[in-house]
Amino acid sequence: MHDVIIIGAGPAGLAAALWCDELGLDTLVLEQNEVGGQLLSIHGPINDYPGVPASNGREFLERFSESVSKADFDLWTNVEIESVDLKAKRVALRSGEELQSISIILATGVRRRQLGIPGEKEFVGHGIIESASRDRNEFADKDVCVIGGGDAAAENALLLAEVCPTVTLVHRRKRLKARPSFVQQLRGQHCITVFPESVVTRILGSDKVEAVEILRKDALKPFQMAVMGVVIRVGVQPNTELFRNELQLDDEGYAIATNQHETNVVNVFAIGDVSNPLAPTISGASGAGATAAKVIASRLNRQK
Ligand SMILES: Cc1cc2nc3c(=O)[nH]c(=O)nc-3n(C[C@H](O)[C@H](O)[C@H](O)COP(=O)(O)OP(=O)(O)OC[C@H]3O[C@@H](n4cnc5c(N)ncnc54)[C@H](O)[C@@H]3O)c2cc1C
Repeated sequence: MHDVIIIGAGPAGLAAALWCDELGLDTLVLEQNEVGGQLLSIHGPINDYPGVPASNGREFLERFSESVSKADFDLWTNVEIESVDLKAKRVALRSGEELQSISIILATGVRRRQLGIPGEKEFVGHGIIESASRDRNEFADKDVCVIGGGDAAAENALLLAEVCPTVTLVHRRKRLKARPSFVQQLRGQHCITVFPESVVTRILGSDKVEAVEILRKDALKPFQMAVMGVVIRVGVQPNTELFRNELQLDDEGYAIATNQHETNVVNVFAIGDVSNPLAPTISGASGAGATAAKVIASRLNRQK
């Protein structure tokens, strides 16, 4: 029997685990991949976590890991969770093992939303650009397309515009959702063309990306445009499928929690991006981890 089981070892889960350890709680962290969460896909600098500037997410994670290595909690990586009974605080692993705790902290974060169009999966590694800041030199002198209208799409388009002859930004709304400073920069780039109220319906090619098919709102038929690279940034979705039956979720599937991060199930907490659609940040995730750990510790102390 553990005091706490934490699901997810991104910034939220790790911060919670550090605090649980500090507060003397018997803690087990379960992570389906390697440690780090979205930090592993931040290829640009992190300047907004007070006191810890880092040139990318991996560098930030190294600093985080220094603290983690000094702490005394159990961390299991590459674990596959079969099911979770939140009320009973029981976690069943695919390996057959059953785990039990007094509290559960959900720190499962978000993943990139997929478009679900032909070519999206087939061309991963063959023209689907994972990150413009990391991979743009590979696409220098090639025409590219960016799908999406938020900050991430705009940022990727601007980075690619530094090296690519043309960048086409395709987004489904009338106006871009990206922050005004990005929109202004996009307007100042002659090589960037923006297609509003449009969707990409297919990514085409033989063994690598050669074109996209675009459907504009007022058009009857889609048209094809030759490109050799595609960035897809159409938002994120929360990792809450495992808990859907018991957890109260909002319309987009994010966990609903109190300001102490407790969910509708007593002694089950949701921290970080999985319950924070509005302001997902490393500092927010870490702070939520600290709060949940402190609430759990004070409840357990009162019971003892
Ligand atoms: C490109 C990019 C740039 C960013 N830049 C910044 C920045 O400059 N500053 C900033 O503050 N924030 C930035 N962010 C946001 C920041 O990374 C997130 O807010 C933060 O990582 C959220 O932490 P989290 O622990 O809640 O979730 P995540 O980082 O998403 O971690 C969740 C973890 O849970 C695991 N998990 C999910 N489901 C399961 C399961 N069923 N079983 C076990 N484990 C599971 C995942 O594998 C993952 O490791 C950026 C994000 C991206 C993608």
